[in-house]
Amino acid sequence: MKKGKKLYEGKAKIIFASSDKNLVIQHFKDDATAFNNQKKSNIEGKGILNNRISEHILSALKDVAIENHLVKRLNMREQLIELVDIIPIEFVIRNIATGSLTKRLGIEDGTILNKPLIEFCYKNDELGDPLVAKEHIDAFEWASVIEIDYITQQCLRINDFLLGMFKGIGIKLVDFKLEFGKRKSDGKIILADEISPDTCRLWDADTEKKLDKDRFRKDLGNIIEAYQEVARRLGILHEQISNVRPIKFPKPTAVKIKKK
Ligand code: UDP
Repeated sequence: MKKGKKLYEGKAKIIFASSDKNLVIQHFKDDATAFNNQKKSNIEGKGILNNRISEHILSALKDVAIENHLVKRLNMREQLIELVDIIPIEFVIRNIATGSLTKRLGIEDGTILNKPLIEFCYKNDELGDPLVAKEHIDAFEWASVIEIDYITQQCLRINDFLLGMFKGIGIKLVDFKLEFGKRKSDGKIILADEISPDTCRLWDADTEKKLDKDRFRKDLGNIIEAYQEVARRLGILHEQISNVRPIKFPKPTAVKIKKK
């Protein structure tokens, strides 16, 4: 697949054209930003880990019939994806109250929610991605009511699947952000963007140690180690992206078979 010109550069990713008009190449950068771009840094290896983790999660979702933009990973930093028109809404799904929810409503940090809470934020950096109601989405025609209802159902299905997947590896899925878009080829709404420790809050189930971007937001250090820990538990840690030396097995010794 030939890489064409740069179509768009975001905070953590770049989109390049490909030789197929319905497909583009998504490149994961090491750049990290928080608090609406006020805090910036470059975290070596983050893009490689997010590329790998997001590929793993989106492939697993595809296996349970949740359509998404992933076609295949191309290399350490890039994946081939289906071109979509992004719906300008961030869908935030919460299982445990933390972050902006606790600040906005004075809810105690760590409160377990009775059922998943879905919030809609209008994707607009200048406005700081404000929280909006379903009615705003309809009124300003960012998506129709039917489309929002469909996406909400998809969000709940994805949450169910991811809750189980992370539980199985000793991680609590606290909250996460999803983006959806209309596929260029047929207009169908599919899951897009990425699912990684940049877009999820992941706590170790025993210690509640943060294994996500909050380590950057809150200056907790060991960001790469935390992302690697998520990749390791998912069973996808590649030698090239870890400091872990490959295990050397002793050379098999030839077994002599005695002739009778
Ligand atoms: N999130 C994201 N991108 C954004 C805003 C939020 O990926 O632009 C994710 C964030 O990582 C967290 C969830 O959405 O997993 C809820 O974020 P919250 O609104 O609490 O964000 P805060 O304002 O605390 O960063």
